[in-house]
Amino acid sequence: MKKKSKERPSILVVNDDGVYGAGLRPLAKALSSLAQVTVIVPEQERSAASHAITLHKPLRLRHLEPNFYLLSGTPADCVRFGVLTLLRGRVDAVVSGINHGPNLGADTLYSGTLGGAREACRHGLTAVAFSLVDRGQGHFSTAALFACQLMAALLKQPLPPQVCLNVNVPDRPASRLRGVAVTRLGERIYDDRFAPRKDPRGRPYYWLTGARASGVSHPGSDFTAVSNGKISVTPIRLDMTALDVIGDLRAGSWTHWKGR
Ligand code: MN
Repeated sequence: MKKKSKERPSILVVNDDGVYGAGLRPLAKALSSLAQVTVIVPEQERSAASHAITLHKPLRLRHLEPNFYLLSGTPADCVRFGVLTLLRGRVDAVVSGINHGPNLGADTLYSGTLGGAREACRHGLTAVAFSLVDRGQGHFSTAALFACQLMAALLKQPLPPQVCLNVNVPDRPASRLRGVAVTRLGERIYDDRFAPRKDPRGRPYYWLTGARASGVSHPGSDFTAVSNGKISVTPIRLDMTALDVIGDLRAGSWTHWKGR
C-alpha cells in the first residue's frame, strides 16, 4: 500500500446498539474531523453482549455505505473483524459507542460497549468506550464533542498497554457539564427479578425485569462523578488477576495437595 505524505490517523468505530443506535452517527461524524473513520457495527442490537465472540455461526458482512459496515456478530466480533481483516494493520484507535444509557460499576461486566473496547485493547490498540447517562434528553453531541477531545489527545499519547478507558457522559448540554473526573468503578445495585409469564400454550417463561438500577455514591467513583454533572473516565485493566490475594492463597494447605 502506498503511504500518503500526510496520512490521517485511522479510527475504527463500533457499538452494541447497532446501526439505529442514536449515539453512533454523532460519534462517527465528530471523529471524522480528526481521523479517517470506519464504522463496523452489529446488524442487530447486542447490548449486554459483554466480550462475547461468535464461534459456531458464520459472520456475514454488509457494506451499508462508504466506510460503514454491518456484521452479523457482537461488538467484539466487529473489532476483531476490523482489526484482523477489513482494516488489517491500518487501525490506530478503536472507539466504542456512544452507548444509549450508562455503563457504571458492575454494568461494565455486561456491557457490549466496553466489550468492544476491551477486545481492541487486547490487540494492543488505544480503545475507549463512551456511554451517555441518558435521561431522555439525548445529548449525544455533548459526548461526541468530548470523544473528539479525548481521542485527539490519545492519538498523540496512547494509553499504557492492557488498559482501556470507560467514559460516561451526563446527559446535558456541554455548557452545563461540571468538568471531567478520573474515577474508579463504583458499586451498582440491581433490582433484578425474573417475572414469570405464560406463553399462549400455557407453558411458563421468565423475563428479566426490575426497577432501574441505582448506584452507591462512594467518593471517587464513576457514580459520584456523573451524579455531580461530571464526565467520568475510568481506566480499565484487562488482567483480572487479584494480585493482592496471591500471597494468602499460596499459604493455603490445599496448595500442598499431591493427588491424595
Ligand atoms: Mn447498548
